[in-house]
Amino acid sequence: MIKVGIPRALFYYQYYPMWQAFFEELGAETVVSSPTNKDIFTSGNSRAVAETCLPVKVFFGHVISLVDKCDYMFIPAIRSMGKKAYNCSKFLGLPDMTRALIPECPPILDPEIDLNKGQRNLRKTIYSLGSHFTCHRGKIKKAIEKAWKTDSAYRKGMADWGIVSVQAIGRIYGKDCESGSALNLSPELKIALIGHPYVIYDDYINHRLISRLQAMGAEIFTPEMADQEALDVAMAKLVGNPHWTFEADIIGAGEFYLEAKVDGMITVAVFGCGPDSMMIDVVRHRASELKVPFLYLSLDEHTSEGGLITRLEAFLDMVKRRKRICV
Ligand code: SF4
Repeated sequence: MIKVGIPRALFYYQYYPMWQAFFEELGAETVVSSPTNKDIFTSGNSRAVAETCLPVKVFFGHVISLVDKCDYMFIPAIRSMGKKAYNCSKFLGLPDMTRALIPECPPILDPEIDLNKGQRNLRKTIYSLGSHFTCHRGKIKKAIEKAWKTDSAYRKGMADWGIVSVQAIGRIYGKDCESGSALNLSPELKIALIGHPYVIYDDYINHRLISRLQAMGAEIFTPEMADQEALDVAMAKLVGNPHWTFEADIIGAGEFYLEAKVDGMITVAVFGCGPDSMMIDVVRHRASELKVPFLYLSLDEHTSEGGLITRLEAFLDMVKRRKRICV
């Protein structure tokens, strides 16, 4: 059976169930790298240029860990997931950067996903991807339908069950989840956690942020747990049409949860990320207008776990005190 390697990084958290359904329906096996650990980070870091952001360094480490375990590596070049809304340039260059930095990588499946070029182009790209596994167009069509249904169920599951992405993936595949496993059954505080999925769900990058917050008595709400249409409406209210793919997830989710009157909001970004610095500023401004406690965490490979815990504890103490005074 052909094995397709899927690095557990970047778009994995949003699209893994869809990709897995597609490849398995075509008779291939998907092999996912382990949750990020020190070895994975170190190997990725050793190949990337210094200016590369932390999630991309981590991505390279995941690719390296899969090199001997698969026949193909799946690294789509995702240019745009919405009309006139573009991804950060790092995503577009991922397949080429991987070829240059990891020459031992198996052949890369690198469909270019650009929704600006229309549905017909997208279909053509996916049929071309499927043709690596079968020459029967009917089989590819069935795989696309299965992938689409799986993706809808995954997103609906997160909203209906009130669980975060990694918990939903764990529930679908019956595996332990990497983050958010220590559920607090009597949460005192509703805290919105805003950031890229590959930052807020990667326990190595964020020092187990979700499970820490849950253990401290917080109920966590992430962008993926809200309805996409509601996020689009909330985002349009603040910035009109999006220019970045993640605008609905950051500005839209920020506004949505601020209006839903969460007790506090934590935004998480990685040091040096240009798109985040602009988007998070918009959310920070709204939180200040609506007088919602707001914490901004900027992470990089040097972030100290102790310092992070102290900041979280201080923030939650402040939110709790404020809540007691206001009720
Ligand atoms: S959006 Fe920011 S964190 Fe994400 S890949 Fe681009 S620079 Fe890195």
